[in-house]
Amino acid sequence: MTPSGATSGAAAGRARMVREHLAARGIADPRVLDAMGRVARERFVPSPLKERAYDDRALPIDAGQTISQPYMVARTLELARIGPGAHVLDVGTGSGYQAAVLAELARSVVSIERIEALALAARRALAPWPHVEVVLGDGSLGWPARAPYDAIVAAAAAPALPPAWLTQLRPGGRVVVPLGPRDQQRLTVIEADGSREVHDACVYVPLIGAEGFAG
Ligand code: SAH
Repeated sequence: MTPSGATSGAAAGRARMVREHLAARGIADPRVLDAMGRVARERFVPSPLKERAYDDRALPIDAGQTISQPYMVARTLELARIGPGAHVLDVGTGSGYQAAVLAELARSVVSIERIEALALAARRALAPWPHVEVVLGDGSLGWPARAPYDAIVAAAAAPALPPAWLTQLRPGGRVVVPLGPRDQQRLTVIEADGSREVHDACVYVPLIGAEGFAG
């Protein structure tokens, strides 16, 4: 196994994913493209679906959740402008895939998940990336113990910006979150000064918690 958890047979699928689903659709940040080209997505996909690992689609994981579509992971991380020295909060660990890509980009990653079985499985899958810490809790409240963060990225949809996130952001930092109702959101960037940019239409599973949707 390489440091990125890769198996050799999947390398061609991964290269094709980067070329055809990411670069061809406008992902331009070379660090994001390289990171997505290094992380073995099949490691985070349930066994019966491993051969679909490099399709550009979300796939089901346990507990009725999903591993996000590669394009949306790339777009989120490109918009978050993660530098090599960054300390990042990843809300909604799920399979751990986005946390692994973040780990290739950043200095340290805290990834928070509300469903214990998913957090435990993700911790195992993320073993090759020791600078990712998976914690169990309600990410709609952020994770104050390790704040401040250079970026907070969410892979679950929020009805509105959870107020705690801005207080846990470093000056100059950015939040990237799908904002909107349960059935349709827009990927939104919020800067530490509160300014916003609205980007791609998307559909994510709901952020469930005190500052998210009701369960
Ligand atoms: N980034 C993940 C995507 C997982 S889907 C991946 O690459 O696989 C989003 C995840 O957010 C789900 O696992 C869901 O359980 C989790 N989630 C929803 N609300 C949450 C909350 N308040 N705190 C932490 N995790 C939450």
